[in-house]
Order: sequence, then structure tokens, then C-alpha cells
Amino acid sequence: PEGYRSEGSLTLGDIFIAVKTTKRFHQSRMELLLDTWISQANKQTYIFTDEEDDALKRRMGGRVIFTNCSAEHSHLALSCKMAAEFDAFLASGLSWFCHLDDDNYLNPGALLKLLSSYAETRDVYLGKPSLNRPIWASETLPNNQTKSVRFWFATGGAGFCISRKLARKMVPWASGRNFLSTSELIRLPDDCTVGYIIECKVGGQLIPNALFHSHLENLQLIPSSQLMQQVTLSYGVFENKLNVIELSGPFSPQEDPSRFRSLHCHLYPNTSWCLQAVGW
Ligand code: UDP
Ligand code: MN
Repeated sequence: PEGYRSEGSLTLGDIFIAVKTTKRFHQSRMELLLDTWISQANKQTYIFTDEEDDALKRRMGGRVIFTNCSAEHSHLALSCKMAAEFDAFLASGLSWFCHLDDDNYLNPGALLKLLSSYAETRDVYLGKPSLNRPIWASETLPNNQTKSVRFWFATGGAGFCISRKLARKMVPWASGRNFLSTSELIRLPDDCTVGYIIECKVGGQLIPNALFHSHLENLQLIPSSQLMQQVTLSYGVFENKLNVIELSGPFSPQEDPSRFRSLHCHLYPNTSWCLQAVGW
């Protein structure tokens, strides 16, 4: 029958992709993403930002969410955006929530393949562990005493995904204003707060996955032959040096400093601006 989908055949349409950005990155970062991977997952992607932008809205078919959160890099401002992402996901009814920063390249095919290997009915929290050990934090108790808690969390800058089954259990700590108060309890950033809710409140566990990458690791170490299989990549500064994936062409590092356009052309060679690139 029409619309029937057999169990286990996940489609991109089942995934809610949230991208966190801020006004000063609409041009410098979002344009690059819109030209590249978002063009392959446009209907699934929602942009969370702190300033209205009609041009961005037009390109996204309205899937730009103005959060009213302050445009600061403070824990509270960033947690405010994560709360907005989480609530929009819950309202969407979709099966998977994936969070990304605006300096991530997402490979939708690789993401679909990865998520397809997990039953939607399971509690799943997937991403790149931010440290090689759990983090210790001090939780403020109602009587103002504190207690030490330890948990793993996925680096927000590498992207992470959560199944709806797990997200539903997170509601008492993560939905609406609750995310902000939970984040205040441990006074740590939004991605730590997600790990804390899942591991210390809900009793879930981070499933470490090596296909997620942030610019806090040396991206040059990913073999070029494996770049096309990675779920997320990034670019940025690491130990005071430009940290980008190693990929020869079609664009030069001057034309394509992030290397995202070149990667996109390897993944989608029929893209019009790839065909025009020198040497192809
Ligand atoms: N960001 C934000 N508000 C800010 C600064 C940053 O929402 O005031 C977002 C930014 O768009 C990105 C993420 O937070 O998606 C991480 O920012 P950035 O990459 O600049 O810093 P990092 O933490 O990676 O060094
Ligand atoms: Mn970053």
C-alpha cells in the first residue's frame, strides 16, 4: 500500500538534522554548507540561529528556526539553542535526532547507513567521545550541597545522534526550560549536558563511533581513501594551525580552504559547479 515502509528500511526522511549557527556565521559558514551537503538533505535539515535572515530562510524553504537565544558563546546561550533543537525534534515526530555544528560536513548516505544498523526501538546515543575517559562533574543538589557525577558525552562539534526512543525518556530534563536548568545544575556546556542527562538521569550509554569528527582532532590523519565513508567531518583551528582534511582537488586550498567543496565533488561528481572545476 501507499506509504508503506517495511521495518528496518530507514530513509533520510526519518532523520531530523539540526544545525546550530549564529548570525556572524550565516555567510562565512552556512553558505558553504548550503552549497554542499545540505543540498542533498535540504528537506530534513533545520537551522537554529539567533538572527532572522530572509535569504537563509528562502534557501531553506522556511526551515530556519529563530531561537531568541542570545548570540553569545556562553553555556547558557548555547544550551538555549540545544533546547530549541530538542523541542523541534520532539514536535517533528521523526525517528532520529542528529545535531551538527555549522563547521561540520555531513555525509547523508553514510549517516543513513550507520543509523540503519540500529533498531529504532532501542535507546541509542551515537557520537565521538569528547575525551578518552568519562568526565567528572559536580552536580548541585536541591539542598545546595554537591555530588560528584561521572559520564561520557559526545563532542557537539563532531555531531551526534539520538534515537526517538531515548529522546522521549530525556524529556523531564531536556525539554522546554528543563534543559537550561539541568545545564545549570552541572555548569557545563550543552553537549556535556546531553551526556549527563542520558547517562546519569536516563541510564543510557554513549555508543562511541569513529565516523564522527571534529576539528579538535588532527583531521589530516584520516586516510583520503576513507573520507567518503565518514559520517561527519569538520575544519577549523587546532593547536594554532589550520586543521582540514587532506584531499587533492578538484579545488585548490586557496579556492576551497575548508576542503568541503572538493569533498562534495568526490561524493557528488555530477554537481554543476564540480563539472566546471578546473581539470575535471
Ligand atoms: N555558536 C553559536 N553562538 C556563538 C558562537 C558559536 O551558536 O556565539 C555556534 C557556532 O555556530 C557553531 C558552534 O557554536 O555551530 C561552535 O562554535 P565554533 O565552531 O565557533 O567554536 P568551537 O567551540 O568549535 O571552537
Ligand atoms: Mn567549531
